[in-house]
Amino acid sequence: MRIDVVTIFPDYLAALDLSLVGKARRAGLLDLRVHDLRAWTADRHRTVDDTPFGGGAGMVMRPDVWGRALDDLTRAGEDGGPAAHIIVPTPSGEVFTQRHAETLATEEHLVVACGRYEGIDARVVEHHRAAGYRVSELSIGDYVLNGGEVAALVMIEAVGRLLPGVVGNPESLVEESHGAAGLLEYPVYTKPPAWAGLEVPEVLLSGHHARIERWRRDQALARTAARRPDMVAALEVAALDRHDLDVLAGLGWVVDGDRLRRAEEGTPGAVAE
Ligand code: SAM
Repeated sequence: MRIDVVTIFPDYLAALDLSLVGKARRAGLLDLRVHDLRAWTADRHRTVDDTPFGGGAGMVMRPDVWGRALDDLTRAGEDGGPAAHIIVPTPSGEVFTQRHAETLATEEHLVVACGRYEGIDARVVEHHRAAGYRVSELSIGDYVLNGGEVAALVMIEAVGRLLPGVVGNPESLVEESHGAAGLLEYPVYTKPPAWAGLEVPEVLLSGHHARIERWRRDQALARTAARRPDMVAALEVAALDRHDLDVLAGLGWVVDGDRLRRAEEGTPGAVAE
């Protein structure tokens, strides 16, 4: 996979030399290139922003500078190669999830456009969509950062670790939080078996694989119900077994058609069922 990142702070992306993503780069699994947006400016001061039409606080990034940068970096599509998928981090985008990471990990070329100030002139996205590019405006959460660089780091790490060969043991990706099961991961423990007066749950020392698997699944259900009821509400009943449904009923969730809903007052019958 090739990823081009455009930013006015290329040094911000230095963290991508570290850890698994850095290793993936060195192993040639990920061709990651970081570019200074100012390389596409046309004036002596290398200006990338200007005042907003309509007035108001802050500055807006100029469409002409961004247009030249994205035209240059997405050009691969024109020689018959796959057109780049342009990612624009923005707090007003769709919230980036593991599903986005999985989809983006199948792309051959991503170009990430890191905004600053009040963001990028809206015509840049409009123009590249009209030119036939896929453009995804993605938010990493409901808060506002100063620039898109941290969001780019988040997305590149989430996507990069899904590329074949990047994570040493691909099995470790299977049961993770936000995986195909739609649950949070169960709690994990290592040596020593007793620490600070706390014991590792006995079942994990039992060597009984079926019991361990069931315990982990129950813990994942309980943790998800406690922390992310929205994820329980999104589970498909058909993907749950009888024991799962018992555990969830104990946590106050009842079957309602092909989904689950929280038991309310007046629904003890449904919980019992
Ligand atoms: N005026 C914009 C708004 O209210 O939607 C916020 C601009 S923000 C100060 C500057 C840049 O930071 C954005 O263009 C975007 O690149 C990045 N950014 C800020 N928060 C983000 C978030 N939650 N997710 C992704 N990118 C974000």
